[in-house]
Amino acid sequence: MSTVVYPGTFNPITNGHVDIIQRAAAIFDQVIVAVATSKRKAPLFSLEQRVEMIEQSFAELDLQNVQVNVMENLLVDFAKQHNATCILRGLRAVSDFDYEFQLAGMNRSMAPEIETVFLPANERHAFVSATIVREIISLGGDVSMFVPKPVLKYL
Ligand code: ADP
Repeated sequence: MSTVVYPGTFNPITNGHVDIIQRAAAIFDQVIVAVATSKRKAPLFSLEQRVEMIEQSFAELDLQNVQVNVMENLLVDFAKQHNATCILRGLRAVSDFDYEFQLAGMNRSMAPEIETVFLPANERHAFVSATIVREIISLGGDVSMFVPKPVLKYL
């Protein structure tokens, strides 16, 4: 069985993330969405809220092979614990590439048996970023076109 881990802060989950997860669910037997605690980033939404927002966004999509977990340890250790053979990341633009390439390289040094795979962002969501969504929220703007509906009730 092929299991992939899709890690992130999901602060909050956006339509771009949803698109990546749906596409991964069609490729892999099992997709584990790993919600990082990211204490260093002082997330706008609590860990519980971020998990709930993802669960509620997927409840209506009825994807049996997507599960959401909290990740409190190192990504490669989390992947091994869950018998995942791949780490999934989304690539929006060249600007994502530097960081993602570095991350993939360091993860491969620590765990050569785990591959990182990239999915290119859907062009419809390629400009959507959780950071900018948070900025719009903090300024009282409308983010309904960038995030799944269940996220809106947390604002
Ligand atoms: P991080 O906290 O590491 O920045 P995020 O939670 O923002 O991670 O995102 C997790 C993953 O989703 C990353 O691989 C990121 O590149 C990807 N991603 C973020 N937004 C989009 C989008 N609009 N389309 C496709 N992939 C995206």
